[in-house]
Amino acid sequence: MKIKVIKKEENKLVFELSDANASLVNSLRRAAVYKVPVLAIEDVYFTENSSVLYDEQIAVRLGLLPLKANVNKMKLPAECTCKGKGCKKCQIKVELKEKGPKMVYAKDLKITGAEVIYPETPIVWLEETHELDLKAAAVLGTGEEHAKWNTGWMYYSQGADAVKSSPSKFKVTLESWGQLAPKVILKKATEIVKKELGELKLK
Ligand SMILES: [Zn+2]
Repeated sequence: MKIKVIKKEENKLVFELSDANASLVNSLRRAAVYKVPVLAIEDVYFTENSSVLYDEQIAVRLGLLPLKANVNKMKLPAECTCKGKGCKKCQIKVELKEKGPKMVYAKDLKITGAEVIYPETPIVWLEETHELDLKAAAVLGTGEEHAKWNTGWMYYSQGADAVKSSPSKFKVTLESWGQLAPKVILKKATEIVKKELGELKLK
């Protein structure tokens, strides 16, 4: 499998894949989108929520915010020495304490060790008497478990413009939601596919 970059942007990578076949490209696509771990808010503990949204609705909105962090230093909760109880190696703490009247945005979250990629994302409107006070934990996860941990999306075609029509050549587009650079996603996905193929051979 050979990779030749056609176009590179901050969150988008277009490349030509040669010496490949459809099942291999599809395995790479699944690995890139659903198997590369990224960070998202998982557990939310409310002390106060007098907004018009239920706790669960706010928790879902928080979970879907793409976050950026140095994920190489972090462990998946299930693989951590704390056995998923939650510690510094597998969790990033998040806090939010706001009073109305105001629109609460993603940028109002207090996070140490990670950053919100789209700070202007609205979370909830608070009226003058409304208050929101919560603590949350962001953890690594994969898109296989929940779509909030998807890295982005990836699609491919054959015989289009830059790629000459050939059964072993594919034009692939990989777009990241911003948690990881497309190049990093591709590298990690390639490692996952290689590992899976190795395990298959061993079996
Ligand atoms: Zn831990």
